[in-house]
Formats: sequence, C-alpha cells, structure tokens
Amino acid sequence: MRAVNEVAASESMVYSTGFTPRPGTITMKHYDLICFDVDGTLVEHPRNKVIWEVLNIKILGDDGINKARYKMYCDGAITYDEWVRLDVQGWLDRGATRDQILEAVGEFNLIDGAMETVHELKRRGYRLAIISGTLNVVIDALFPDHPFEEVFSNKIFFDERGRLASWKATPFDLHGKPVALKALAHEFGTTLERSAFVGDGDNDVPLLGVAGYFVAFNPRSNELEKGSDVVVRGRNLKKLLEIFE
Ligand SMILES: [Mg+2]
Repeated sequence: MRAVNEVAASESMVYSTGFTPRPGTITMKHYDLICFDVDGTLVEHPRNKVIWEVLNIKILGDDGINKARYKMYCDGAITYDEWVRLDVQGWLDRGATRDQILEAVGEFNLIDGAMETVHELKRRGYRLAIISGTLNVVIDALFPDHPFEEVFSNKIFFDERGRLASWKATPFDLHGKPVALKALAHEFGTTLERSAFVGDGDNDVPLLGVAGYFVAFNPRSNELEKGSDVVVRGRNLKKLLEIFE
C-alpha cells in the first residue's frame, strides 16, 4: 500500500513495465473496469454523514437509531433488508415527500473533480459502474449525466403525488459488493484481476482481495487503509487520473 503522492514522486509509476514503448506502440491497460462507491468517494457531506443518517435525523428526528441499527445488523439481529425496511418504513409512516428527501440530498456535494474524472476515465476506455449502499435519489440528483454503465444502489420510489411509496433494498452492499463486482466483470467480458474498485468505508472492506486493485480514497476505515493497494488522500478525485492512465 502506497500513498499516491509517493507513487507520483517515484521514478516508475504504478504500472511501469520497465521500458518505454516506441511511439505508436499499443500499450495494454492493466484494468478494464473501475467500480466506485458513492458516499465519501463520489459525494461528500459537510459532517461526513451518509444519506440514511441525514434522512433519519431529518424525518424521524433521531440520530441514535443510525448507530443502534448498524449494531443490530453487525450483531446479526437484523438482515440488511430489514435494516433498509426499518429506515424507509419509518420515513413512509411520517408521510415523507420527494421534496423533503431532495432537500436532504441537497446537503451533499460531488467530491471536487468527480465529474471530470469519471468522464475522462470513460474517454480513456475504462468501463465504469457504481456499487453502493446509497440511495438512487442521491446519484440521480448529483450525477444526472453520469457515465456509469451500471448503477447498483438502494432505491426508493414516489407516487404521483410525490409521496414516498416504496423501496427496493440492494443485494449488493457490504458482502454483496464482491458479488456485484464479479457479475460486472463477467458482464463486461473481463476478470476480477482486471477490475478495480475505489472506495472509502467499512462497507467496502469485503472487496479487499477480490478487486484486482483497490484504491482507498480518504479511507474512513483502518482495515480498508491497511488492505488497499494504494491510498489517495486529498480533496480532489482527479488524482485517480494519475493511477488509471
Ligand atoms: Mg463510502
């Protein structure tokens, strides 16, 4: 694991092959697919919260249930689906509306350089996808013209009056993330070795040793930081363009 500034400062970049190709020589990329987490990786909140926490505070007026339910999930007292249901049903029971939820989404920003970076990676020929535990409304609102070919996230839906009506929990958060990465690698005709992941949190840890290359972006998890291939620190995602040439 190396910090990206170390890598950039060294004579040989991460993927140096030890020789300089002749002009016109076709060099092969080391990765075909790059998958991204969302919260903390593509979007940020001024107090480092995720959308679930913000909505529970905003609609239910309770920050305590976030930690309590995460602990229940970790202890095996509830499944991931039940955790999603507890939160979303709570909002639904309070008559949550699209406007109210979009107001909460408005507390989030794209990480600096996120838009330019993912479009440039696409231009360089990488296949891009999202594997996240966030809500679809966050991606739709902040990244309307995104270049991701697949987006796996939790989803909420509204009725014709703009009231929260239903939801669908993703099977691809936490231990589902490697399952999604395998499926995407297969779908795009590549391998896990040629698939990279960019993430920041504990829910990305199950991808360590599964993704062919793991970039920890401002990691919030010690385990992730230790197990990743490279750590990128700083407020701008453009540093990825030094890694994925
Ligand atoms: Mg995250």
